[in-house]
Amino acid sequence: MLNKAAAKLLEGFADALEIRGANAFRVRAFRNAARQVDALTSDLSDLVNSGEIKNIKGIGKGIAGVLQEFVANQRVEEYDTMRAEIPAGVFEMLKVPGLGPKTVATLYNEHGITSLDALETAGRSGQLADIKAVGPKRQEKLLRELGRFRERTARHLIGEALPLAELLVEHLRAEPQVMEVEYAGSLRRGQETIGDLDILASSVNPDAVMEHFITADVVDDVIGFGSTKTTVLINNGIQVDLLVVEPPEYGAALMYFTGSKDHNIEIRSRAQARGLSLNEHGILDEETGTRHPAATEQEIYAAIGLPWIEPTLRENRGEIEAADAHTIPQLIVRDDIKGELHGHSLWSDGAAPIADMLEAAKSQNLEYFSITDHSGSLGVANGLDPERLAEQTKEISAGRTTSGSITLLHGSEVEILTDGNLDFSDEILASLDVVVASIHSSFNQSVEQMTTRMITAIEHPHVDIIGHPTGRILGRRDGYEFDVEAVMNAAAATGTALEINASPERLDLNDVMARRAAELGVPISINSDAHHPDSLGFMHYGILTAQRAWLRPADVLNTLPVEELLDWLRQPKPRRWIPH
Ligand SMILES: [Zn+2]
Ligand SMILES: [Zn+2]
Repeated sequence: MLNKAAAKLLEGFADALEIRGANAFRVRAFRNAARQVDALTSDLSDLVNSGEIKNIKGIGKGIAGVLQEFVANQRVEEYDTMRAEIPAGVFEMLKVPGLGPKTVATLYNEHGITSLDALETAGRSGQLADIKAVGPKRQEKLLRELGRFRERTARHLIGEALPLAELLVEHLRAEPQVMEVEYAGSLRRGQETIGDLDILASSVNPDAVMEHFITADVVDDVIGFGSTKTTVLINNGIQVDLLVVEPPEYGAALMYFTGSKDHNIEIRSRAQARGLSLNEHGILDEETGTRHPAATEQEIYAAIGLPWIEPTLRENRGEIEAADAHTIPQLIVRDDIKGELHGHSLWSDGAAPIADMLEAAKSQNLEYFSITDHSGSLGVANGLDPERLAEQTKEISAGRTTSGSITLLHGSEVEILTDGNLDFSDEILASLDVVVASIHSSFNQSVEQMTTRMITAIEHPHVDIIGHPTGRILGRRDGYEFDVEAVMNAAAATGTALEINASPERLDLNDVMARRAAELGVPISINSDAHHPDSLGFMHYGILTAQRAWLRPADVLNTLPVEELLDWLRQPKPRRWIPH
């Protein structure tokens, strides 16, 4: 939908206006409109085309005109002009936490600071401390935030990068001169964040491929153009390199650019031991000087006596030895997932009614879907108290009669309180189908307190799953600290599942921790934690993380068919996990 993009545009418009010192009322009008558009439940294009947009509160004639232009052209001239006049670095400064448009406007207009580099230099030299809008105290804080910001923004979330990569690959497939094409790098390995995006194609006519590539809608800027490598920036600031190689080299190049570096080093030394020299162009017998076939990755691995290795495993974490011994497990794939056990609705902080979430789950071919709205003490998420939970039970019971092929489960994402007790009474928890227990507050407890808090929840007789166990938000917040081994051991001993929360902002547990948990015999549950029907697609990212954790379908609770899942949920704890 265009709504999100339009809301972003209005917000950017407001920033640009403020930086240019525009009338405060106009700036505020744009900010209000951005919020209104973001909260719209219907498609913005429909509202614009039918003229209804003018009836929406907070959207006056001027802004309606801007939206009209945006819907028609996907761009707005006045905005583009403003953006072109203000250095890009000024907008980048706005992304640093604690730096609002007002301060940025002062720094730019009165002190000529136009980039993050200039800001940092001014901070280090103490110049910011003398600026009235900043001052010495804020200067220190700004420098700290700036450092963290730079660390974070060097990488992009997989949830942002993957859909764009797929778009670009699809765009390239439409060009008849392209023979093979795939995205490579850390994205192909399913890493949670990526730096630059690498796409690899094979063709005998690379110029035609490059010409076609830069016509993709998402391409914003062409930074470098050549027949072997072209570099562009796409609309959200990700840098993309397209490499085009000759078809006989494609496998060697794909392997090289997929990495990881550690995996490739190990593979190369294995090749060397066999008298073969391997690089991104192919594989050569050093004694006879003959070239081995290298058009596919399979051929390369075969030349050194190995079966093909899944990209998600290529981290040199034992996969080469396992491939050699033929002990690489059958990795879980999306189709193994039979249901989801953690999802939200309008009852708490979700964006859709239960019925819509259920429809979305059906279209994902799930056998069961669990509504687990927040519990009462999470006020910010409109958590349910016992009365509202009882009302919700009625709606869910009614929903069950119409749910058809999918089983609707009633659960709760219940708050783990600071002492490890839960937000609902045992009696209420016992009445629910599924209990996901999560921490959303008091992250700063000591390691001991946090460990006790988690283990207490894990040992609770009615807790089935611990949601997003470390609480991290990628790029924004580290997880809280606790004794991971002790918590995992408690989960294994009680048969309590730990979640891989598949939301791309979380991916929590991460790959390394999920692998360790499965080794210890902890059941893993992979859930989208969807707050919107579209977010059920997050499962894909959870699966990639699970593959990186070497998980088999048998390690994952929600690969169980509905009857077996219900049996598992009904078993009293300590519940023995039996891999199937
Ligand atoms: Zn949660
Ligand atoms: Zn949740």
